[in-house]
Amino acid sequence: MLKIENLHCKVETADGEEKPILKGLSLEVPAGEVHAIMGPNGSGKSTLSYVLTGREGYECTAGSIEFQGEEISEQAPEERAAKGLYLSFQYPVEIPGVPTITFLKEALNAQRKARGETEVSAPEFMKLIREKAKQLGVSMDMLKRAVNVGFSGGEKKRMEILQALVLEPKFLILDETDSGLDIDALKTVSDGVNALRAPDRGMLVITHYQRLLDHITPDRVHVMANGRIVKSGGPELANELEAEGYDKYLGEAA
Ligand code: ADP
Ligand code: MG
Ligand code: MG
Repeated sequence: MLKIENLHCKVETADGEEKPILKGLSLEVPAGEVHAIMGPNGSGKSTLSYVLTGREGYECTAGSIEFQGEEISEQAPEERAAKGLYLSFQYPVEIPGVPTITFLKEALNAQRKARGETEVSAPEFMKLIREKAKQLGVSMDMLKRAVNVGFSGGEKKRMEILQALVLEPKFLILDETDSGLDIDALKTVSDGVNALRAPDRGMLVITHYQRLLDHITPDRVHVMANGRIVKSGGPELANELEAEGYDKYLGEAA
């Protein structure tokens, strides 16, 4: 479903310099599978998620990104999103004045429009949102509040997952904060990921900590260091990393 080959990408830094971050990254995620990427801070995990969704400021100089058999590395972010590539943000944005429910409806309609589909009707949307909110234990009061404004870490995560449940992406990239996910948020994220598992959907879960993977059980675990995948294995690799750390892979990557 997602096939990345020998990807080299750089970022334009604030002082106008170009800094290579991805240095020959290869990765394949088949439909129906959940893969985890782990790795030390600064190894390029978030950069990979931005590059996949086509964020501005990143340039790939070699390699390829195939999504559902199509080369997407030159496509605009909206085009990729319309095809069902979804990134949940590591640092969720607050949107004062915009009720969460309105935001979700707009997001769904933007996706429909990009796909040449008609807008969702108000009753149709209410039915959908009630069902999905119930599934995650999100109250209607919560949905009336402005997007992420004053939300706790756990509430932000729950909203992120709710958005994914509403948009039903083909491929989901979750980039977790390196810290600050409390037990409640961890459980929400993992319940959401498990609910979104489907034979025609792929998922990439980026995480610094093994504890998230206690609840998710990925099909494959990849270690990223210095802009490349340096080791891949089954779910047991996460436990090994927890016990032994990344040191031995850092040496190899350098
Ligand atoms: P991770 O998510 O694995 O912690 P990142 O992808 O955030 O790593 O960052 C990889 C490296 O690239 C880090 O050294 C980071 O400081 C650097 N980097 C990322 N974005 C920029 C940027 N816009 N300007 C300068 N350096 C950057
Ligand atoms: Mg980081
Ligand atoms: Mg990161």
